[in-house]
Amino acid sequence: MKIIETIEEMQSFANQTITEGKHIGIVPTMGYLHDGHMSLVNRARLDNEIVVVSIFVNLAQFSPNEDLSTYPHDLEADKTKCEDSNVDVIFCPNEKEMYPSVPLTWVNVDIITKYLCGINRPNHFKGVTTIVAKLFNIVKPSKSYFGQKDYQQNRVIIKMVEDLNFDVKIITCPIIREKDGLAMSSRNKYLDEKQRKEAVVLNKSLERAKWLIARGETNASKIEFEIKQMINKISGEIDYIEIRNAKNLYKIELIQDDVLIALAVTFDNIRLIDNIIINNKKL
Ligand code: AMP
Repeated sequence: MKIIETIEEMQSFANQTITEGKHIGIVPTMGYLHDGHMSLVNRARLDNEIVVVSIFVNLAQFSPNEDLSTYPHDLEADKTKCEDSNVDVIFCPNEKEMYPSVPLTWVNVDIITKYLCGINRPNHFKGVTTIVAKLFNIVKPSKSYFGQKDYQQNRVIIKMVEDLNFDVKIITCPIIREKDGLAMSSRNKYLDEKQRKEAVVLNKSLERAKWLIARGETNASKIEFEIKQMINKISGEIDYIEIRNAKNLYKIELIQDDVLIALAVTFDNIRLIDNIIINNKKL
């Protein structure tokens, strides 16, 4: 497994790979890898001759009041996990390599970045789309893998790829959960024992919503209210609970077609997100 830290080396490796007729799959991450990340790696391994995992804690997607300085990292453990999963390259540039000077060029997807996570994190998606666009230009992948856990991020990236004609196929992979249902996240390690137990309610409330819909409930507000009642019983503070059209992310009142139920809850400064997609045509 190669460890590449410079853009120049990564681009020349990518050019060589493509000349040899091989395809590159990239899994963009911020490191501190867990089984959720590794599920994307495993999927990429099936589809591509060459798998690149990028590890970069992207300052541009954090607001000043967020947890950039405490974001967990353990590059040695990440290397072991990648090696064990037959990753070909870890691309782990430092901040100076990725942002040698203050950037004046940003990639910004409009409208669908303005609600859900975009309300409390107004510049977040601009940072995400800019770094992903940079990674696509540096790593030159045919396919890129993202988790459904960051569902809005997925839709934003899909729109960016469509609008800017990136020749990259976006593959969305299912949410990997702990045994008790909590969605895996690098941030879970900061939950104390009580918060960790309470955090299970996030997934439970989504499952409850699924159950209500399966029993014929079609009023989105009623379902949102039920979820809210469950989460209000724990110490986490609700950032949002919303039901939206899964494809275009428009707000809906009537449950029909494929719907996204998404939520964000903050325990002290630890912000957790989770979601479920319900395909009503199959219910
Ligand atoms: P992050 O390192 O948190 O930026 O995540 C990198 C990628 O891993 C993103 O595409 C996430 O959606 C994905 N990811 C994070 N957690 C999970 C999970 N529990 N299941 C599946 N994918 C995940």
